[in-house]
Amino acid sequence: MILVLMGPPGAGKGTQAARLAADMSIPQVSTGDLLREARRDGSDIGKRAAGYMDAGTLVPDDLVIALIERRLEQGDCKPGAILDGFPRTVAQAIQLDDMLERGQRQVGAVVSIMVNEDEIVERILGRLTCGQCGAVFHRLIKPPAVAGQCDVCEGGVSSRSDDNEDAIRTRLQTYTNQTAPVLDYYAGAGRLEKVDGTGGMDDVFERIQDALSVA
Ligand SMILES: [Zn+2]
Repeated sequence: MILVLMGPPGAGKGTQAARLAADMSIPQVSTGDLLREARRDGSDIGKRAAGYMDAGTLVPDDLVIALIERRLEQGDCKPGAILDGFPRTVAQAIQLDDMLERGQRQVGAVVSIMVNEDEIVERILGRLTCGQCGAVFHRLIKPPAVAGQCDVCEGGVSSRSDDNEDAIRTRLQTYTNQTAPVLDYYAGAGRLEKVDGTGGMDDVFERIQDALSVA
């Protein structure tokens, strides 16, 4: 089963995708990772992608699709995969469907993590990152045992300077505007499962599992 996991920045999508992948014993396929790997592997397609990344422009959809196709052909993806970070537009969703159809596969379900904008702002603003090892904490939800100090390596933790409220709200608005039509696209085909993303990571994970068991 090919699953698509969607959710706004700050909704914990990456974490949920990793848990789901472990739970279902299928790989998590993140387009960000695919692009970084492609750059390193020296293949033609990797070099082309690297050209766009180095120029600071978006990698074209057909290239990203080709990378996903190549990844899904690998043995560990035979039982399925969880797509994380793709598709973000209807055009990408249609191209993805076409590509999967060629391999006689399909997107079985799309899980969209729905979170209230104010809650996401609060989550991101409260985020504390260790400057030394990158561990992430949260002022309210997951404070370090010693204030200002990382539990893992005892490095200093602080909030990211680019996380200001206006910037977060703009990112969320962009996400919503871009992906609302994608959700409509999948809802029309009866593949969309909306999951309440409020509360703790464990609660959300349980809701995702419930949604998939009836999908
Ligand atoms: Zn640390």
